[in-house]
Amino acid sequence: MPMLPEQFIEQLTLSLGPERAGEVFSYIQDSQPSVAVRANPFKVSDAESLSFLPIDAERSTYSQWGRFLTSRPEFALDPLFHAGAYYVQEASSMYLERILPLMAEMRQARPDGAFKVLDLCAAPGGKTTHLLSMLREIPGSFLVSNEVIRTRAAVLCENVSKWGAANVVVTNNDPADFAALPGYFDVMVVDAPCSGEGMFRKDPEAVAQWSEDNVRLCAARQRRILSDVLPALRPGGLLVYSTCTFNHYEDEDNVVWLASEYGFEVLEQRHFYPGDDMAGEGFFFSLLRKGGGGDMPVFGNASKARGGSAAYRSFGSLDWVRDGFTVYRKGPMLKAFPDYVAEVMQAFELSSGLRVMMSGSAVADVKDGRTGGRSPHVSGTFKAQSFRSGAAKGSASESVILPQYSLIQSEVYRRGSLPEIEVPLETALACLRRDPVVLRDAPVGYVVLTYSPGISTPAVPFGLVKNLGPRCNNLLPPSIALRKR
Ligand code: SAM
Repeated sequence: MPMLPEQFIEQLTLSLGPERAGEVFSYIQDSQPSVAVRANPFKVSDAESLSFLPIDAERSTYSQWGRFLTSRPEFALDPLFHAGAYYVQEASSMYLERILPLMAEMRQARPDGAFKVLDLCAAPGGKTTHLLSMLREIPGSFLVSNEVIRTRAAVLCENVSKWGAANVVVTNNDPADFAALPGYFDVMVVDAPCSGEGMFRKDPEAVAQWSEDNVRLCAARQRRILSDVLPALRPGGLLVYSTCTFNHYEDEDNVVWLASEYGFEVLEQRHFYPGDDMAGEGFFFSLLRKGGGGDMPVFGNASKARGGSAAYRSFGSLDWVRDGFTVYRKGPMLKAFPDYVAEVMQAFELSSGLRVMMSGSAVADVKDGRTGGRSPHVSGTFKAQSFRSGAAKGSASESVILPQYSLIQSEVYRRGSLPEIEVPLETALACLRRDPVVLRDAPVGYVVLTYSPGISTPAVPFGLVKNLGPRCNNLLPPSIALRKR
């Protein structure tokens, strides 16, 4: 039971009145954090398919993909968690889905060009993966997911890869760097760093670090972040400004400031407190519209004029990639982008001047030249298999194409184009730990491992190995291997 800071108690009592504030304090101090997950529509058809969900897991009214769990399972020991079949997320944050109908309306009004969304403070990826699920329903859209802290941006990349959407670019930039893209984005989400009062129930460290001074510092930093990035939102565009704190300095006061200083129209603002219906921990959500009308900006369609897309060459078809996605070659890498936004995403990557950490879905590496069986990666059967299943149609080269692990995580992967075998839980966990495994009944060569918790659930890919017969080479990157025994 965390001891709450006195000034925090005073402030919240002043904002909510003693009775309501008292209820919130007792929820923070005397109740357990709720547990909620958001299913991944790229991987499972609905949340009921998830292994650990009781059949009556309560639905979130905020998100079509959200479910409350009655207890906290050991997520790390569920292969579906590693497969990206769901995201464990704080339940109030799922209110973000409120913007889906508004985005769909905006898109209908301007169906030409790409629909561009920015998630500015994105790591570890809760809002980003949610936005990607929403954008799946909005044709011609893509997301720029940004995180300023490098190590956190690396975690963001892992979570984005795992989610599987191909219409996303991950950047590692300061908000001020987006000034180079005036009026570029249609929608912007700023889930700002804050004093974290909403995390008090879950995280005693947040209580220990709280001070009035820090609240003021956070409020000032939030204004700096907003003023730096706002020029990149087009007139008429939507802004979500959110925090996981309760005080008005960081929340309502900043909304008032956005309206008075920048002319934003406030469409909605609300707090979520622990103990509220459908809520998890604390959250503040506000939705605003930037003033003015205005045309779509030209940046992003200017790739050829700037010579940018020369770094990408169209590759032709690759059996492993589904229709609707185009494969491009960039250096030794093959990447797939959704057809409808491929050029705009590449232009963004090459001409925005931002530090791009990933874009589209990396599907394979190309080893060029006469291999003659000399390459350690390709010999005998493996070379033959690489050619059979992966060579570019019409290419007469000796190139060998080696699938990457991110292929099988992505929506671009054509199910069944590589041999797939469903494995039991113990084998799945061994593979996820990168322990040695022997796949006796599997063909030799590249094999996709899938896992299903029961007969009614379609198996989801989670692993890629090169089966050598007596042993397997595991293509799971060591950085994401399971450490728990
Ligand atoms: N949106 C994320 C999600 O749903 O998973 C959570 C974001 S967290 C509340 C705020 C993020 O802002 C952190 O990842 C933090 O590294 C980043 N951040 C910290 N200082 C920043 C700054 N000066 N400008 C932009 N982002 C910053």
